[in-house]
Amino acid sequence: MPAHVMELPRRVVVGSGITRQVGDILGDLELGKNSLLLSGPHVRDLLSRSFSASMSNGGFLSNWELVGPSSFAEVERVSILAKKLGSDFLIGVGGGKSIDIAKLASFNSKIPFVSVPTSASHDGISSPFGSVKGLDRPYSVVAKPPIAIVADTDLIIRAPHNLLVSGCGDLISKKTAVKDWELSHVRTGEYYGRYSANLALLSANMIMEDADQISSPNAESISVVVEALISSGVAAGIAGSSRPCSGSEHLFSHAMDIVAPGKGLHGEKCGMGTIMMAKLHDLDYVEIRKSLKTVGCPVTAREIGATSEEIVKALVLARSIRKERYTILEEAKLTEESARKLAEDVGVIA
Ligand SMILES: [Zn+2]
Repeated sequence: MPAHVMELPRRVVVGSGITRQVGDILGDLELGKNSLLLSGPHVRDLLSRSFSASMSNGGFLSNWELVGPSSFAEVERVSILAKKLGSDFLIGVGGGKSIDIAKLASFNSKIPFVSVPTSASHDGISSPFGSVKGLDRPYSVVAKPPIAIVADTDLIIRAPHNLLVSGCGDLISKKTAVKDWELSHVRTGEYYGRYSANLALLSANMIMEDADQISSPNAESISVVVEALISSGVAAGIAGSSRPCSGSEHLFSHAMDIVAPGKGLHGEKCGMGTIMMAKLHDLDYVEIRKSLKTVGCPVTAREIGATSEEIVKALVLARSIRKERYTILEEAKLTEESARKLAEDVGVIA
């Protein structure tokens, strides 16, 4: 068997109020002293005082840099800044954007990065994959996983509810992602890792089982979602590819980014894609739809402000988004007519 490389975080801390202890948490990881923190303005206003004090107590120097919209140019700007400041490591504090920029800039600069999510909206908080605009493809690229993840449930519980809901959609989508991976293994001989596949599925199943509790979140159910997102990112690190986390349903979500930009969050679109891809895979799409609905995920085009035509267009386009990735879409070969019937059959469009 060829050698198989797994990239994993070294320390994961999930708990209440822990951003105030971040200096201690990172203290003995031998990351160097000079940190560069990246966030948006809102997060900086909310956290900079307590966070910087904790970093300073831990013996770290920290520079706080505001990052703009997620783009390749912004990744380059941060990489140059880190070099100029002699930063030993980066810290991305925020939702998707700051963490993605920290992840890709740290990969560019060959220095580690720490992930401090302030919401639980997708598994990028722990995975080795990042996406920014301005790349030559609409899906994630390979980087490194965070060296440490510090997830403060006090912050995450205060984030807008639709972000948590989106995280649940991203997690439930592992149901079809793993099915697509299995299918590719059978049809193309692609490497398939049972352990990482099962780890990703475990995250999806836990969210489906706990859907009722998650619908009115408290500290405990927030922890379940955060830990499931972290485990699912770790599953990608073990697999050495995003395969256990991203299949045909993600291709649909990426296609929606192109066809109807700005409509629906990543995980919401993945969840909706999962209902349709589950039908193609002959999985129990009714159960998947029910769980998504229970956690508060949109299950119809109308709920994300999309039209039936946009859904049909994205379904047809999805197959061509990432040609090397074999999924059920290769076998379904959706046309406008069959895509419309699929979306109607599962109730995504009327
Ligand atoms: Zn995702």
